[in-house]
Amino acid sequence: MLGQAITLIESDLASDQNLAQEIVEKCLPYSANSFRIGISGAPGCGKSTFIENFGLLLVEKGHKLAVLAVDPSSTISNGSILGDKTRMAELSMHPNAFIRPSPSGTMYGGINRMTREAIILCEAAGFDRIIIETVGVGQSEVIVGTMVDFFMVLMLAGAGDDIQGIKRGIIEMADALIFTKTDGDNALKVKATAQEFKRALELFPQKENGWKPEVLTCSALLQEGLDEIIILSNSFLDFTKSNKSFKQNRLNQQLEWLYQMVEQALKQLFYQHPTVKTCIAEAVDKIKSHEITPYKASQQLLDVFLHH
Ligand code: GDP
Repeated sequence: MLGQAITLIESDLASDQNLAQEIVEKCLPYSANSFRIGISGAPGCGKSTFIENFGLLLVEKGHKLAVLAVDPSSTISNGSILGDKTRMAELSMHPNAFIRPSPSGTMYGGINRMTREAIILCEAAGFDRIIIETVGVGQSEVIVGTMVDFFMVLMLAGAGDDIQGIKRGIIEMADALIFTKTDGDNALKVKATAQEFKRALELFPQKENGWKPEVLTCSALLQEGLDEIIILSNSFLDFTKSNKSFKQNRLNQQLEWLYQMVEQALKQLFYQHPTVKTCIAEAVDKIKSHEITPYKASQQLLDVFLHH
């Protein structure tokens, strides 16, 4: 039933959308009792393997886990990376786990709305741990950062992810950096890099909520270090619940979502306005021939939009 309801959310049909919105609204009061975990990392850094084994540990501890992927699969080799249920073979068979790949052929804006709504449905269905997975390719990470309570970035040592190379924004968003594949010949190198990051992170100011991002290492393959990550995420949960920042963060995210939705709807109305459409074409020509500045053209277009 949960799968069917998410399919309704993803449908473009107006009748499906009406029903979907009704369902989401009815589910909303039941969605507060969960922990939303964002997991991001470059392709090949070990996300699937990590989520499979981390997820199995969570369900063994009695949690109900939903995993949602958030990438317009069209941008990632036609969906072959994320659209594939066999990636987390054992977890996807577990009765207390629910895995949903991202819908294909959808733009970021759509993914954003659908994922937020899918989270609410999963929570109402009794899933108390929600993992939102994204490939670390920029925009989608930022989106995921605005819909989770705790954000982990998986890192591969020696893949250009050195301290100089890593994007500052990612570190600022992350609540934990997890160096993966700490096994075999790789182990020493990964641990040394993790130490380096630990020292570097100490120079960063603590976040507004008082949390200081942590650096951990693990081998998902050998199932080493995963318990420590669960302990860390639980201590984050306790910490942010006790200083009330958990609730505040969720409220901020909802407000941000409201403004995003308003902006999107306004933009759509503007660009679909028939007179605006014709006038934009004219404005483009005038800008090309230097007859008008883009600023003035924008003012005229808004005037057309508001008064015609
Ligand atoms: P994703 O693209 O980020 O989802 O990465 P995958 O989970 O598919 O892993 C990419 C490759 O790394 C696969 O060949 C995995 O077997 C391997 N891998 C993943 N985790 C580990 C690990 O902890 N140790 C080692 N040695 N290899 C791993």
